[in-house]
Amino acid sequence: MIRIHILGSAAGGGLPQWNCACVNCIATRAGKIDAQSQSSIAIGSDSEEFPNWWLINASPDLPRQIESATWLQPRGNTPRNTPIAGVLLTNADIDHALGLLLLRQQEEPLVVYATDETRAALAWLDRTLARFCGIKWRKVSSDFQRLNGSIAFRAIGLQHSVAFQFLDEASGRLALVAPAVGEFTLELSKASADSEIILFDGTFWSDRELAAVRAGARSSREMNHLPIGDGSLELLRQSPARRKIYTHINNTNPILMPSSRERAEVEKAGIEIAHDGLEIVL
Ligand SMILES: [Zn+2]
Ligand SMILES: [Zn+2]
Repeated sequence: MIRIHILGSAAGGGLPQWNCACVNCIATRAGKIDAQSQSSIAIGSDSEEFPNWWLINASPDLPRQIESATWLQPRGNTPRNTPIAGVLLTNADIDHALGLLLLRQQEEPLVVYATDETRAALAWLDRTLARFCGIKWRKVSSDFQRLNGSIAFRAIGLQHSVAFQFLDEASGRLALVAPAVGEFTLELSKASADSEIILFDGTFWSDRELAAVRAGARSSREMNHLPIGDGSLELLRQSPARRKIYTHINNTNPILMPSSRERAEVEKAGIEIAHDGLEIVL
């Protein structure tokens, strides 16, 4: 059995974002919709022999996410310990990597799986952490490799990011975690066809969404996020997966508003919208 926990379902900036007065951020501050922290996912098996969790991306909200999840907290047997075994990075975005700096009090080096491209882009962070616990880098592979007791994973290469597919070796079941997707490649499409659970990039509804709140902002596709409306919605609608869930949702995205047409379209397509604390069992 694989357990997947959404620690944070928002894209960079969170919901609300400190300097944002879009309708969603205003509604959040007014208590009309729930606040969401920045994108991070914990994955693990619940076998007692392997009480270790892996994080998929480490957001700047990580310390607070750990405090809201008892199973990610240290046990009382020694003064300093953690059930977090390491981190898998989809790319080098600030909102995915800054949490690594916040784990610096660890005594052993942090184990981080990433592509060479991501590692190179995070050279600054690597240098900073070297003065503390340091990072033990591990390469991701396009073939399945063992993560812990019964979980294997592989990386699906995309432009400037990767998606991860997880395999429960006991049951043969697969899950796809793809929070940063610039384009729907053939390999990603194959992985989405054989995965029972899909967590997918729900950053933006439309390509020009950010430009509406910030003049000169890059488009969704330019930021390496396939928009939902004229991009991933149709592809996910056709996927046979048991659960399809949008996560890494930007605070500007109209799917966050319960009464919106866009949210209704997503729900009609059989796709869920992630929130902090959502737990998925494979
Ligand atoms: Zn992000
Ligand atoms: Zn906003």
